[in-house]
Formats: sequence, C-alpha cells, structure tokens
Amino acid sequence: MSTKFVRYALLASLVFGATSSGFAHSIGDTGHDHAAPRYDFTVQPPTRIVMRANDVVFLAQATAPRAVAAPANAQPSLLSSAFQPFAPKVKTRTDGQFFYVESDGMPAHNMMVGITAWQQQVPLPQPYTGANAWRIPLNPVPAQAPASIKNRFLRGAIALAANGIPIFNPQNNRGDISNEIGELDQWGGHCGRADDYHYHAAPLHLQGVLGKDKPIAFALDGYPIYGLTEPDGTAPTKLDAFNGHETAALGYHYHASLKYPYVNGGFHGEVVEHEGQVDPQPRAGAGREALQPLRGARITGFSSKDTRYSLKYEVGSETRFVNYTLLDGGAVKFDFVDGRGQVRTETYSPRQRGPGGGDRPTGEPPGKAGPQKGPGKGSPPPPPPVRGEARPPRGPSGAVAAAGYTPKRTGNFTLRSPAVANGGALPVEFTGDGASATLPLEWTGAPGGTKSFAVIMDHLDPEGRAKWYWVLYNIPANIGSLAKNTQGIGTLGNNSVNSRAGYAPPHSKGPGAKTYHLTTYALSGPVLLNSTAAAVSREVLLAAMKNLILDSAELTVTYDRTGAIGSPNGAPGGKGGPREAEAK
Ligand SMILES: [Zn+2]
Ligand SMILES: [Zn+2]
Repeated sequence: MSTKFVRYALLASLVFGATSSGFAHSIGDTGHDHAAPRYDFTVQPPTRIVMRANDVVFLAQATAPRAVAAPANAQPSLLSSAFQPFAPKVKTRTDGQFFYVESDGMPAHNMMVGITAWQQQVPLPQPYTGANAWRIPLNPVPAQAPASIKNRFLRGAIALAANGIPIFNPQNNRGDISNEIGELDQWGGHCGRADDYHYHAAPLHLQGVLGKDKPIAFALDGYPIYGLTEPDGTAPTKLDAFNGHETAALGYHYHASLKYPYVNGGFHGEVVEHEGQVDPQPRAGAGREALQPLRGARITGFSSKDTRYSLKYEVGSETRFVNYTLLDGGAVKFDFVDGRGQVRTETYSPRQRGPGGGDRPTGEPPGKAGPQKGPGKGSPPPPPPVRGEARPPRGPSGAVAAAGYTPKRTGNFTLRSPAVANGGALPVEFTGDGASATLPLEWTGAPGGTKSFAVIMDHLDPEGRAKWYWVLYNIPANIGSLAKNTQGIGTLGNNSVNSRAGYAPPHSKGPGAKTYHLTTYALSGPVLLNSTAAAVSREVLLAAMKNLILDSAELTVTYDRTGAIGSPNGAPGGKGGPREAEAK
C-alpha cells in the first residue's frame, strides 16, 4: 500500500489533474475516492502538457505517427463538426496533439426520468474544464493488441459524447448491462457516485441536433462513433467485434448499436489502461458519500431553473422529491422531501483545497474528506433494486386495432394537449376551417430506454379504413412536447388527404362529429426509413417501427364541421388554411 501511495502521489504531482478518483463506477476502494477538490472552476488551461512516465504511447504517437486510418488532417475538422453544434456550453481547443473538450457535464436535455433502479445520486455540474478537460487524440494510432471493453474499463469513461457528456462502459461496475436493468433514463444516462451524469448507451438522440452524417461521440482512443447508419443512411457492413470498421470515406470508425455493446465494444486504437480505466481522464467532483440503491423507486420527473433542481420519484404510494440548489462557492443545499411533505435539509461544501492550489500537494497522500452524512445513511442498506413492473396493457384503440395493429400500451405513458381535453372538441384553428395548425401535444412517462418518439393522427371511417392526417417520426427522446404548428422536430411523413408530405387538417365534408386519434409511440430506437417523406404513410411507419414500440399513448378529439359554420374562425363552406387539402 505504501508503495502504491508513493507512486500515486508522484503521479498526482505530474499528471495534470487526471487521476483515478471520483467517478461513478469505482470498483474496490482505492482510498482515493472523493479525495479531490470539488467544483474547482478556477483551474486554467495548461500552458504545457506534462506527460507521465508511462504515457509513452502518447509521446510516441506525437513524434512518430504510425499508420493513421483516417487522413491525418481530417480529424480536427471532424471533431469540430461534432462538438461545435453544442457550443457555447461545450468548449474546445487543441494543442496539436489532443483535442480538448470542456463541459460542465450537464446536458441540454432533461435527465433521470424513467430510471427504475436508482442509487439516489443526482446530476451536479462537474468541473471538466482547464486541466481537467476531456482529451481526444488528434492522431489515433491502431493498437498492436486492441483491447475489448468486456469486463474491462469498468471505471470512468470509454468515450465522450458530442454534447460533452462522458459515455461509460455499457456494463456497470458490477458487470451488469445498465441499459437492461432499469438504471438508465430515457436518454441512456444516469448519475454515478460523484453525482456525475453520464451515458451507458449510445446517445442517438443527439442526431436530432447533429443529423446522421456526423459522429455522435468519440471513443477515447480518438476514433469517431457514428450512429446506426453510415452518413449517407446506408447500413454499415462487416463490423468487427468492437462495432467498428474501416471505409474509404471515413477510415476506421465505430457505429452505435441498440444492443450490447451500444458504442465502441473496445479500443481499436491505443489507450493507456490504469487501475481499470482509460487514463488519464478528467475527474468528477464528489460532493457527498456514495449512496445505496433505493429499492422500488421510480424517477418520474426532473426539472431545473437556474441553479435549482428538483428530482421527483415514487416509492410505493409515496411521491418524494430531492430538491437541491447550487450555492456560491460550490456548496450544494439539498432538501429531501418525503411522502408526507416533511423536509430534511443537508448542505455539502466543496472540500478544502490543499496548499498550492490546483492538484493536491506533492508528496502527500490524497486526504479522505471529513464525515459527511448522506441520506439513507444510518438506515440498513436496502436490498438490490428490482425492476419496475409494467401494468398489464390496456386494449388498443379501435382505429389501430382495426388496422391490424396492436401497439403496447401500459398506461404509464400519457399524452395530452394544452389546447383540448381528451375526448373534447378540436378547436377550429387546428382544422381546415381555421388556420390548419398542428395540435400542441405533451407526453410524459415514457419508459426507460426510449430513444425516439413518433406521432400519428388518424381516423377510422365507417368502413374501417384508416385516414391519416399527420405522420411524424424520429422525434428525439429528449422531446416531451410539440408546440402548435411545430417545425423542425422529427421527420414528417405524408397524409392520406392529399398524399403529400406534411400535416393535413381534418376537413370533413360529412355530417356529424368525427373522432380523431392522436397516438404517440415511445420507441427503442430511431426509425430507419430510406423513403422520401411523401412515401412514408401511416402504414409504412407502423411497419417500420413495429418492433421498436416500448409504449404508446393516445389522445382522442372530435370535430364536427357544422360547428365551424359561423364561428369566429370559420365561414360557411369552410375557409381553407395554408395547408388546406382536398376534403375527403
Ligand atoms: Zn453509471
Ligand atoms: Zn461505418
């Protein structure tokens, strides 16, 4: 132990802030966890990169780059194309050897919702800045003996998503696949022991920002990770054991997948492995003791405003909250609200920095922080979490059933509109008698593992034939609502009114009220379709997403066209909207 300590201290004095502490999935107590100064936003970018003795790999590649798969000068612009869309939240710089990525570890999308196996950690901003930034090699070097991530690299990150969020091994520190046991939210992430948010699956939802032609992440060996397809939409061929392959256009690169390994299944390129993780890499700032799994808890809500955050969860019949506020100086005040509304408050201060600032003092072992009481401490450790059980599905709607299609519907996932109640009359502005606007929609309770949403608005005529007015798919998983007349979110399909792409409002000539169904589908992946928008009908979409539906939710509205006659927005005979179609 003493030898290790000396070595550790020596390394700590040499390495620019990258140590083995703080991350979520530390296995075995090295004595270093939580030892680092926390919330250190004062460190400055290094003027010179000090290499460690065993970083010869990186030194070697800097002086004598070997066969580089991609054209050497393509890498910086490729890196920029992936990370730039997330500026200014994500900042980048390069020193000719590495591409550095700074972020606070907090994504723009919502977090935590959908987790059914929860360790009571919450997302806190992390100091991935300055010397503690992420670094991606500018000249990836194929490894002599490529390392698989299977049962290896279980600590720390193996890749960095384009939005500056680290991606960990799909296996957690116990070797379980996080995505298969309810540990992950709808975006493929959760929080580790340092209250650090990270993904354990491919963040395909970033394609909502990036498109399909850019990498969604870079493995820490420097090779890019693309989505499920090549940039041109074609399926990747001849993938190796790490989900990677080499193409003429892109050189070596990985692809995301919807099952293990989800991201890079190993490192085609050289990395340094140290104490079970790619090294060096930034450390997360632990603010409190790592907590125990809370059996039976389901996270049902998360919101934030400025420096205040609120996480809502259910245990049994109780609804509880963890409300927390970032205070000046890096402290965090927690209010734990139980099912009876009783509040327990705890404040965690960032630990004192050692003399000399920056890294911990040379020659001194990292100090263990003073005792800090965490919630749950003092009570017996709960048994391991169990997977949430879905309620038995309800019957599908008549329209969908009649079309020979039965989507899963647990009842947990709900759809509403701020403009009309379920079963209510559609306001005329959403019809062909008004402004032909698309209805604003809001959905909640999507199951964990949801990777995209789709929306279909349809109607079943008396003969049982479906008419459809709105087909919208590949809505990113971080979207929970669509505004009135939504644009730029998801991919549009066609409608049966005029067979063109886009929304066609109800504009029936027939007498009496008609019933229209809006259905939102929570999908386990993106819908892969190579058709033009005008060719994607309700049936084409249903067939393409048939095996992806995790849950569905429905909103039913009615419209009686006679009601529009003489109304403020309507005129006798109907006033056509901008996207009016032939009435059917
Ligand atoms: Zn994790
Ligand atoms: Zn490829």
